[in-house]
Amino acid sequence: MSGAAFEADGVASFDVIIVGAGVSGLCLARLWLQANTPFRSILVIDGARDDATLRTFSFWSPVESVFESIVRHAWKELRIVGQEAMHAVPLGECTYRTLFWADLQRLVLEEIRRAPRCRVIDGRAEEVVDRGDHVTVRVGAEAFSARWVMDSRFRLADLRVDERRWHSLRQHFTGVLLRAPEGTFDPKAATLFDFRTGLAEGRSFFYVLPFSAEEALVELVTLDREEAAPVIERYVRGTLGLSSYEVVAREHGTSPMTEQAFGWRASGRVRRLGIAAGMVKASTGYALTRIEDDCRGIVRSLEERGDPMAPPRGSRLYRFLDGVLLELWASRPALLPGIFRVLFTKNPADRVLRFLDERAGIGDIVRIVMTLPSWPFLAAMGRWVRRRWFGRAQE
Ligand SMILES: Cc1cc2nc3c(=O)[nH]c(=O)nc-3n(C[C@H](O)[C@H](O)[C@H](O)COP(=O)(O)OP(=O)(O)OC[C@H]3O[C@@H](n4cnc5c(N)ncnc54)[C@H](O)[C@@H]3O)c2cc1C
Repeated sequence: MSGAAFEADGVASFDVIIVGAGVSGLCLARLWLQANTPFRSILVIDGARDDATLRTFSFWSPVESVFESIVRHAWKELRIVGQEAMHAVPLGECTYRTLFWADLQRLVLEEIRRAPRCRVIDGRAEEVVDRGDHVTVRVGAEAFSARWVMDSRFRLADLRVDERRWHSLRQHFTGVLLRAPEGTFDPKAATLFDFRTGLAEGRSFFYVLPFSAEEALVELVTLDREEAAPVIERYVRGTLGLSSYEVVAREHGTSPMTEQAFGWRASGRVRRLGIAAGMVKASTGYALTRIEDDCRGIVRSLEERGDPMAPPRGSRLYRFLDGVLLELWASRPALLPGIFRVLFTKNPADRVLRFLDERAGIGDIVRIVMTLPSWPFLAAMGRWVRRRWFGRAQE
């Protein structure tokens, strides 16, 4: 019985159950609802409430996103700031964009609730069992069944990285939304990397996203768990020179950085999504574009083959390059500000962004590599290869 939610033995059945109404779950739900498929009944399970607290997501892309209608702010110029100088970097094909989680959540949950044979339930999936020809999911005392389950559950605490062979860093984000007098910010340009944090060199940076002349998101990103509030205040008052401002909202979170592969397939009918499927780019912490690409791949496979169990796009070369960057970041962080400066000043920004997004072809990669300082990278490559094959203990 394709495309219909029905009850069998008292169990509500769907074509697909999406576990987790976070970024990847809602991205997939939105694309699935737009798909040309007879498998149209969707159940989304998440215990998280509609969330009005500040959570922003930024990304770049040369093409429109599935979330284009809710992009709040977009920039065509980036700024990269080192200790000595600020570099303005114009974007060509790409636009840097920010959206708010609350908008995304509202948009997609409403679409699911309006769609026939689709449901959102408030609860935690406690058991997901692949029974060969279908999957059952238990939520408290209730059970549901589906042809497929797309599972975005992920707990940082459960992540096991073989640290002898792969890096395991954490990126800690703390953001404040500031309101200051009119004319304080220049909304034309987004500062992507400002390494003047006053912390250990290269292990942290700020980004500043001016939403208007009076409002900006200032976000501290660190590899170390820091008490962020005084660092942010020092930066805002001292470096940005703001004497009067108000903190309107705050956001905080931690993301994994590892080049170790995450398995995308939990079983024949259960596929992982989002962070759980390894969609956080190891060397940058960005995931949104990769999540969207991955979800588009799933839906394409559903349309073309009647089966959403498609592997994510991935490349060994990029995984290796991520590993080398993580190696440098972990062992020689003070080099990072210079490396980012060179990356963005000796290459067109679009090429760098394509590279960071794993869309650059081999020609672009070679051109980028030629602009980077060779010795630190060669040394990092050597350390990475040794670690990968012999383990860290023998370094
Ligand atoms: C602070 C922070 C800022 C980030 N900013 C950016 C950014 O600007 N740009 C970018 O590209 N990437 C960013 N990322 C990385 C990435 O895009 C996000 O982490 C994104 O939320 C990942 O989506 P996800 O669906 O994998 O996880 P989530 O969005 O966390 O969704 C997982 C969902 O699963 C639910 N869940 C968990 N267990 C259960 C269960 N048992 N039953 C049902 N539901 C369950 C959770 O409630 C949650 O809603 C950021 C990450 C962090 C931590």
